[in-house]
Amino acid sequence: MADELLQSRGVKPTPQRVVITQFLLDSHDHPTADEVLEGVKDSLPVSLSRATVYNTLNTLVEAGVVKAVSLEPGRTRYDANTIEHHHFVDTKTGKIIDIPWEKVSQLCQTLGPEYKIQDYQITFFGELAEPTP
Ligand SMILES: [Zn+2]
Repeated sequence: MADELLQSRGVKPTPQRVVITQFLLDSHDHPTADEVLEGVKDSLPVSLSRATVYNTLNTLVEAGVVKAVSLEPGRTRYDANTIEHHHFVDTKTGKIIDIPWEKVSQLCQTLGPEYKIQDYQITFFGELAEPTP
């Protein structure tokens, strides 16, 4: 699945690109580059350097295979969900949840027609409530 995705985006599916892409497709918690490195290091016969992971992630972002998201200052996370969406960050656990784009897009209409919005991203911060039994 990962190699087909890479080929459809015009990226040569080298072993490290396939492994990193598959890791991101399987993880829904928006990992950082270090978390990607930690997550894939046992999946390849040769060890990956941090630089290789960073370079590979940059290649994947440029090709539109994954998205880079910054939800906290100075920290980039990677998301295989490339459909426009927003995020909810649980400030207690750090869990990040995707929120569909359409649910929030009506907010933009409050700005009025003189604003032509080209892009936006909203991050909600809060805590997940305990499930009621
Ligand atoms: Zn996301």
